[in-house]
Amino acid sequence: MISARTTVVAVIGNPVAHSLSPRLHNAAFAHLGLDWVSLGFRVDRGCTADALSGARALGIRGLSVTMPHKDSAASLVDQRTEIAERVGAVNCVTNNGGTLVGDNTDGRGLVAALRRGGHFEPEGRRCLVVGAGGAARSIIAALAESGASEVVVVNRTLSRGQSAAALAGPVGRVGGPGDVGQCDLVVNATSTGMAGVDASMGPVPPPSSGTAGSVVWPLDPSLLVRGQVAVDLVYYPAFTPWLEVARSRGVEVLNGLGMLVHQAALQIAVWTAFDPPVEAMWRSVRNAGAE
Ligand code: NAP
Repeated sequence: MISARTTVVAVIGNPVAHSLSPRLHNAAFAHLGLDWVSLGFRVDRGCTADALSGARALGIRGLSVTMPHKDSAASLVDQRTEIAERVGAVNCVTNNGGTLVGDNTDGRGLVAALRRGGHFEPEGRRCLVVGAGGAARSIIAALAESGASEVVVVNRTLSRGQSAAALAGPVGRVGGPGDVGQCDLVVNATSTGMAGVDASMGPVPPPSSGTAGSVVWPLDPSLLVRGQVAVDLVYYPAFTPWLEVARSRGVEVLNGLGMLVHQAALQIAVWTAFDPPVEAMWRSVRNAGAE
C-alpha cells in the first residue's frame, strides 16, 4: 500500500508513457518486499535541471534518465561515477541525502544481457559498435572493460566515432564496413531501428519483414555472417529490419530488451543496496508482451 512513507523513484524522459522502466523497478520492489514505488514523469527537453531540483526537493531516491536528458544530466548532477564522467552521459541518478550522483549502467547492462544464457562473452573477442551516441559510448567502454580484444567503432560522423573509440583505450579504433567480417559481435547502437515508429505509445508490433527499400542501414546487415552475434539496442519494434536481415543470414540476434532489463537491475542495486531480482524483472516485461 502506497503511503506517505513510501520511497519514490522515477524515470524522466520524453516520450515516457511507453517506458517499461517503472514496470521493471516495481517488479523488483515487489519481489524484495520493499515499500518503494517507481513512476514515470514526462520532462521536456531543456527541463533537466528543473527535474533534478525537483527530485532533490521531494526526496526522490533515484531517477532513471532517458532521452533527451542523458547528456544534460551528466553536466548537472553533483557527482559522477567514473564511467559517467568518461562517457559524458547519465542514465541513473541516486539522491544521497540531497547530493545527486550520476551513473551510467547502459554498457554494463548490455554486457550482462550478452552473458545471460551464454549468448556472448566479450573477453578476448573482437567487437564492432555502430554509433557513437550516449548508449554506444557506454557500450564501447564496457566491452573494453570486459576484456574485448578489439572494439571497432563505425559511425556516420567520423569525429564522434574517434572520440567514442578512445573510450576503449588501446583496444579501440575507428573502422568501417570492411571490418564486419572479422568481428564476433556487431552492435547497432544507432537509433535508426526506430525510424518511422511512434515510440510514444502502443503495443510492441510483431516482427516485421523489412527490406532495404526505404530503410536506412547504419551498416549493411548483409555483411553479417553465420557464427556472429548481432544486437540492435532497439526493442520497439521487437525485431528491427536490420535485425531481421541479420537473422535471415543465420546470425544469432538479440534485441535491446535484455540491456533494458539489466541496466534497470543495476539501478535497483545502486538505489536499494539489495541484489536485484533479475528473473522477476524479466518476467515483468515478458508479461507485458515485450519479448
Ligand atoms: P544518440 O545519442 O542520439 O546517438 C545516435 C547515434 O546514431 C549517433 O551515433 C548517430 O550518428 C547515429 N545515427 C542516427 N541516425 C543515423 C543514420 N541515419 N545513419 C547512421 N547513423 C545514424 O542516441 P543514444 O542515446 O545513443 O541511443 C541510441 C539507440 O539506443 C536509441 O534507439 C535508443 O532508444 C537505444 N537505447 C536502448 C537502450 C536499452 O536499454 N535497450 C538503452 C539506451 C539506448 P552521428 O554521430 O553521426 O549523429
